[in-house]
Amino acid sequence: MPRKPKKQAADGKTIQYATLKVRLYPNETQVELFENTFGCCRYIWNHMLADQQRFYLETDKHFIPTPAKYKKEAPFLKEVDNQALIQEHNKLSQAFRVFFKDPGHFGYPNFKKKKTDRDSFTACNHEFESGPTIYTTQDGIRMTKAGIVRAKFSRRPQAWWKLRRVTVEKTKSGKFYCYILYEYEVKTPEPIVPVPETTLGLKYSMGHFYVADSGDMADPPHWLKQSQDKLTKIQKRLNRMEPGSKNYQEAVQKYRELHEHIANQRRDFIHKESSRIANGWDAVCMRGDSMGEMSQRLKRGNALEAGFGMFRECLRYKLARQGKPLIIVDRYLPTTRTCSTCGLVLDGEVPYKKRLWQCPKCGAVHNREINAAKNIKAQGLAQYLQYFDCQELRESA
Ligand SMILES: [Zn+2]
Repeated sequence: MPRKPKKQAADGKTIQYATLKVRLYPNETQVELFENTFGCCRYIWNHMLADQQRFYLETDKHFIPTPAKYKKEAPFLKEVDNQALIQEHNKLSQAFRVFFKDPGHFGYPNFKKKKTDRDSFTACNHEFESGPTIYTTQDGIRMTKAGIVRAKFSRRPQAWWKLRRVTVEKTKSGKFYCYILYEYEVKTPEPIVPVPETTLGLKYSMGHFYVADSGDMADPPHWLKQSQDKLTKIQKRLNRMEPGSKNYQEAVQKYRELHEHIANQRRDFIHKESSRIANGWDAVCMRGDSMGEMSQRLKRGNALEAGFGMFRECLRYKLARQGKPLIIVDRYLPTTRTCSTCGLVLDGEVPYKKRLWQCPKCGAVHNREINAAKNIKAQGLAQYLQYFDCQELRESA
């Protein structure tokens, strides 16, 4: 996880970031250079990590050597963009920083394998008197070492955005993409204090992606299900085929492309949904589900479920840039088994299969998920106002 460049904005202004995803069409020489860079980045990461471990065992101190140290024993490192190697050092330092801070959440940095880890490298832009090292042209991106790489832009940066860094990535199906990170200043938004009428309570839902306290549901688009069914079909076909045959190779490529297609569809869906909510509401309350458990679910194959963590993060920053809060409610609160009408807390959990239940005390009939979303919203608002009151008290004291 790369560190966000920290900078102080001018008075009354806030720094924001935007990323453009651009398809790259490198020529043969550039493909070779990119492949070499991916390899060098893995090499340097693994060597720095091994040295860190050795050093830690010997001296009990945390230290990561810089890439310069390895260039003598591995002269091929000099052939790629030095910026990419420096970034690996930054990424590894950051991986350790977050690990030391919260080991349960982030886990110990792993060695990188060609087979499983994504092929990518990152390079920062430097502004020299002679001009920047990385910039975009009409139909390309200029990078150090690679020169101008042909690119297709679906969106253009605003004139006042500053290019900070690029990440080049090769997907499993063999396509190249570039993620360009831009930085720009905006007027700091006035903080909005949420009121019940303009606050949305959201609950994660297995069947609907999310359910809101208003009864709204995202309902995962049917095309996602269709693509996923297709994926299962190809997988089954692959299992019956002779590995290594031409048909097999073709099916593998098809499988990878579909896989990427689904990831794109999911990302689009998540961005559209989070924008719609962030623009339409003043505050959103959600449960603080653990990201670790979310990624466990990814392994079990529910793609959309795994996207919920990303959805939450999208909501967070899209709300924040408008001065609106995302309020996270404790995941251990009994939001599903509390009656949102009278406040009665049931002894046991309402079974998953039971869509409707009736409160034994007040007789209200609840939809299991909508009721939970209502409780999340009520709890979130209470939490927020309490925090707000404390702040006002502190300021008036
Ligand atoms: Zn009740």
